[in-house]
Amino acid sequence: MYTQKLRPRRMRISPAMRAMVRETTLSAKDFVYPLFVVPGENIKEEIPSMPNCYHLSVDNAVKAAQECWELGIPSVEVFGLPEYKDEDGSSAWDMTSPVQRAIKAIKEAVPEMMVVGDVCLCQYTSHGHCGHLEDHYVDNDKTLKLLQKVAVSQAKAGADIVAPSDMMDGRVAAIREALDEAGYVNVSIMSYAVKYASGYYGPFRDAADSAPSFGDRRQYQMDPANAHEAIKEVDLDIAEGADIIMVKPALAYLDVVRQVRDHIHHPVAVYNVSGEYAMVKAAAANGWIDEKRIVLETLMGMKRAGADIIITYHAIDAAKWLKEEE
Ligand SMILES: [Zn+2]
Repeated sequence: MYTQKLRPRRMRISPAMRAMVRETTLSAKDFVYPLFVVPGENIKEEIPSMPNCYHLSVDNAVKAAQECWELGIPSVEVFGLPEYKDEDGSSAWDMTSPVQRAIKAIKEAVPEMMVVGDVCLCQYTSHGHCGHLEDHYVDNDKTLKLLQKVAVSQAKAGADIVAPSDMMDGRVAAIREALDEAGYVNVSIMSYAVKYASGYYGPFRDAADSAPSFGDRRQYQMDPANAHEAIKEVDLDIAEGADIIMVKPALAYLDVVRQVRDHIHHPVAVYNVSGEYAMVKAAAANGWIDEKRIVLETLMGMKRAGADIIITYHAIDAAKWLKEEE
C-alpha cells in the first residue's frame, strides 16, 4: 500500500540516476601519500608487513612523488629512517638527513606539490619514544624545544606543511612561534590533534623502525575510549594555531571524525593507518575480499564521516581505480 508513493528505489534505478543523487564524492585530490625515505641511492625495498609500500632512497622518493602528481594526488607526507639515532633524536633536524633531502628534492622536481613533513622524534631517538626522556618519562616542555628545531629544518628544506605527530601539550603553539620567528609564516601546521594509542600502528613501526624500547605511548597518546577528550584536544590545537586538524587512526574512529567535523570550521584530515592497510592487503592476498571495492568503499566512508583529506597507503592504487571509473 505505502509502496505506491514511497519508493526510495526510484533513485537507484540506473547508473546515471545514482550519479545524480550521490551525496559524497571521492577523488585523487583527497589523498596524501606517505613516503618512507632511507639513506642511500637507488633503494626500493618492500616493507614486509605493508605489501606494495617501500623504503625509498631520495631519488626513488622523488619518482614516487612524480607518479602521485601525475595521478592527480596533490600531496605526499615524508617520514624518514635516519643514518644515526641518539638520545634526543638530533638527526630529525639534520639538514643532510633523508627527510630534509627528500623534501628539497621533491619540491625541486614537482614545485606545485604540497609536501608535508612529519614532525616527531620516535624514528630518530635511540629509545624510540617521541621526546626527551627524564628517568623513563617523556619530558613535555624539553621536547617542545626539539620539535621546534625539526619543524624549522623541514620548512627550511621547503616543506609546505609540517605535521606534528608527537602529542606533546603546547607543541602547535611552540612550532608556530618557531616557524614565524624563522620567517616561515606561510608554512602550515597540520596537527595530529587527535591521536589515539592504537594497535593499528603496528606495521608502521616496522616501516619506520620506531617501536619504543620500553613501555608504550599511553602517557601522551589518547585513550581509545575517549571522544569528549578529542574535542578538547582539537580546541586546544586550534587555539594554538593549527591550520588542519587530524584524527588518527581513521577506521575505528569515524564517529570521532564526524564529531570533530561538526565542531570546527577547519579542514579535517584522517590517517588511514598501516594496520588498516595491512588487514585489507592480507585479506585480498588470500582472495577473501575484492580489494578495489573494499578500498574505495572504506575511503568513501572516511569522506562521508567528514574527512576532507585522507592520508593513505592506498592512494596510488585508489587514484588509478578512480581514473578507470571516470
Ligand atoms: Zn612519534
